[in-house]
Amino acid sequence: MSPYTLAMAVRPILRYPDPRLRQSSAPVTEFGDALRPLVADMGETMFAAEGAGLAAIQVGEPLRLFIVDAAVAGRAETDPPVVFANPELVKLSEEAQTGDEGCLSFPGVFVPVKRAMRATIKAQDIEGNWFEMEGSELLARAFQHESDHLTGRLLIDMVGPVKREIIKRKMKKEAAAAAET
Ligand code: ZN
Repeated sequence: MSPYTLAMAVRPILRYPDPRLRQSSAPVTEFGDALRPLVADMGETMFAAEGAGLAAIQVGEPLRLFIVDAAVAGRAETDPPVVFANPELVKLSEEAQTGDEGCLSFPGVFVPVKRAMRATIKAQDIEGNWFEMEGSELLARAFQHESDHLTGRLLIDMVGPVKREIIKRKMKKEAAAAAET
């Protein structure tokens, strides 16, 4: 039975400067049926927001857990998102890539960020089984970006002071607009 037959719900995505995004997440200790509802909600939320990846803390759950869109992870587009629980980046290439990076917690913000071109990650799947995956380009970027979320590191930390101010102002304006409606 597919875990995706469970009732799913789109959850609100925390936006910068929500202080919860700065939290360090705790290890995932329960897998299988205990983890499935959260993972299903995260998948639905990521899909609705058209994201490539989503960390649990972005829906307010401080767990060392993120998902990556199946197509980004090299699987069929119709596959469920790939689950990475308790992930560790075990290898980063010296070769770098610089490209525009976005984050569902910073809607509308895309900034050039330098990342390793290739990354190898070790993680547990939804059942708790360890696996390793190597990614390059966009997938390597997703591994690095989502791993940063687990220690409260955000897109805005990756840019210089001028761009940081611009992003802060934009996010404040959006928060004020959202509060009015
Ligand atoms: Zn993000």
